Amino acid sequence: VAFGKPLSEQSVMLERVAEARIAIDQARLLVLKAADAMDKLGNKAALAEIAMIKVAAPNMLCRVLDLAIQAHGGAGVTEDFGLAAAYASARALRIVDGPDEVHRNQIAKLELRKYRVAEAKRAVERPQVNAA
Ligand SMILES: Cc1cc2nc3c(=O)[nH]c(=O)nc-3n(C[C@H](O)[C@H](O)[C@H](O)COP(=O)(O)OP(=O)(O)OC[C@H]3O[C@@H](n4cnc5c(N)ncnc54)[C@H](O)[C@@H]3O)c2cc1C
Repeated sequence: VAFGKPLSEQSVMLERVAEARIAIDQARLLVLKAADAMDKLGNKAALAEIAMIKVAAPNMLCRVLDLAIQAHGGAGVTEDFGLAAAYASARALRIVDGPDEVHRNQIAKLELRKYRVAEAKRAVERPQVNAA
């Protein structure tokens, strides 16, 4: 209870619960998309999806745990609830399998490659203007 009302009735907490639910479900759907692509197309074809979940899932986890710690106030950073320890583990996941930056670079390169390939195709198909 804070300011005479249970935390679960405070609009800021409702906002955060909603934010956490949206973030968790977004990450889950991206994981399912990656797993589906790995199953149906193979790991090589699913490179972008794999890199995306390596960034999205640990970042989501850090954000949700951060919100939970904040909701618990000072107790959130003690050993009583395990949230601080969970945050430390989640934070390590943004480094363990390669830092976020490396995965983001890979995602961006794969994204830009699509447009380079499309542009190269258009250039081949474009009618050649006779310079003479
Ligand atoms: C708990 C834990 C478990 C681990 N387990 C394993 C394991 O089982 N097997 C294994 O092989 N390794 C493992 N590692 C090592 C892990 O893969 C490396 O820590 C990680 O790749 C980062 O390398 P680094 O620590 O040398 O940091 P650096 O490469 O020095 O990077 C430091 C920082 O520089 C930035 N950076 C680095 N590269 C780039 C880039 N290309 N573009 C932009 N910014 C960049 C990032 O912010 C990064 O966090 C583990 C690490 C931890 C912490």
